[in-house]
Amino acid sequence: MCINPRNSQKPFIYVVLVFCIMVTFSVHAQVKPNLGTVNRMMNDAKTQMDKGNYESANVIFRQIIEGNYTIPQEMPYYFAETLYHLEQYDNSANFLKKYLEINRSGGDHFEAAKALENKLAEPLLAIRSCQLCDRKGYRYEPCSKCHGEKITEKSCQFCKSRGEVGCTTCMGSGLVTRRNVFNIIEYHECAKCSNTGRTICPVCEGTKQELITCMVCKGNGTQVSDQLCDHIGEINHTHEKIGN
Ligand SMILES: [Zn+2]
Ligand SMILES: [Zn+2]
Ligand SMILES: [Zn+2]
Ligand SMILES: [Zn+2]
Repeated sequence: MCINPRNSQKPFIYVVLVFCIMVTFSVHAQVKPNLGTVNRMMNDAKTQMDKGNYESANVIFRQIIEGNYTIPQEMPYYFAETLYHLEQYDNSANFLKKYLEINRSGGDHFEAAKALENKLAEPLLAIRSCQLCDRKGYRYEPCSKCHGEKITEKSCQFCKSRGEVGCTTCMGSGLVTRRNVFNIIEYHECAKCSNTGRTICPVCEGTKQELITCMVCKGNGTQVSDQLCDHIGEINHTHEKIGN
């Protein structure tokens, strides 16, 4: 597209060519490595797929994505197929969608992509209707921090872990004042704190610990494991809930 076919404009062609080379060079300088490397990686991944080594293929595809290479046109299909075999159905569906978006019906693997889309429907439905796994199909397990209790203890901030606070009736003095009939101030023992000036912390009730929503599971009691779900059984809660 950069070459003018007419010989009468040689200087013009020369300038355009130099410009094209400069643009090509700067583009390649940004998108770091060259096409040969990606093609070699693609071939390696496909070889691994043919051998049924989908884990190895997965590793190579991830290197292509993370390596900031220009993604080959057919790559999302191969990656989707690999992820299907690794039972990473949600991820597989994402790459398949990408593939069909990029290539529409013009891709070399359009028919295969459509077939894979059909094969994915059932496992994706199973994931969506399962309460034991997240939407990617990974099994929930009891939260490692609260063991499914949804709350954790932390030192009481209100009393700074003292278990007691200054009495609000006598402002910590232990004494309350009253004016008698002669308008003279009388001092009396504070009934609320029995003259001590301190009362039991209303937040932790003297335990020095307060119960807060577990920050790890955000109060769900569960977290996602790295195990793919078989959609059978129930979440194994190892502890009774506090307060029951
Ligand atoms: Zn938790
Ligand atoms: Zn008091
Ligand atoms: Zn407290
Ligand atoms: Zn499940």
